[in-house]
Amino acid sequence: MVGADSLALIADDIRTCRACPLCESATQSVPGSGATDARLLIIGEAPGAHEDKAGMPFVGASGKVLDKLLHVAGVARSTVFIANVVKHRPPQNRDPLPAEVAACAQFLQRQIAVINPLLIVPLGRYAAARWIPGIKISSAHGIPQHVANYIVVPMLHPATALYQPRNMAVLEADFQALGVLYRTVLGDVAQ
Ligand code: SF4
Repeated sequence: MVGADSLALIADDIRTCRACPLCESATQSVPGSGATDARLLIIGEAPGAHEDKAGMPFVGASGKVLDKLLHVAGVARSTVFIANVVKHRPPQNRDPLPAEVAACAQFLQRQIAVINPLLIVPLGRYAAARWIPGIKISSAHGIPQHVANYIVVPMLHPATALYQPRNMAVLEADFQALGVLYRTVLGDVAQ
């Protein structure tokens, strides 16, 4: 399990990282979790309060929405890996500062290198901009794009469905299409 060992080492490095001030206000780090051989990597922006408390990504209200969306996609959460752009919670859930994102970038890069997914799904404008600079998530959501060696499918953030319920239908349609794409890509690889 070389992949598991490497992800564990990255998680250890994240837990002891002091490269930006976010670690000082957070309860603990949230390195990410999921299958070490995941073909689908989901990337959020940053841990929230529930994630900070649990040390796990997407376990709060947004996590429940994500669970529902994965169900719609027909993809088991246990088969994907879920991480965030920054690994410690920003205070009061503010956006991470550019310097904090830059300081944390190496960890996500290392996780991607180990997992080597086929599909990357950034959630929300902030995470999507990491792959597609200047993206307008309101019009680009759900549209697969080739970026480097990956198929990147930017999505609205699941939290948007909590305060704008009409976004749930948009998310469900995009995740349903994602599930079809996922199975097609897996089938192509298996041949
Ligand atoms: S957010 Fe990232 S860069 Fe900042 S302390 Fe945590 S692990 Fe280090």
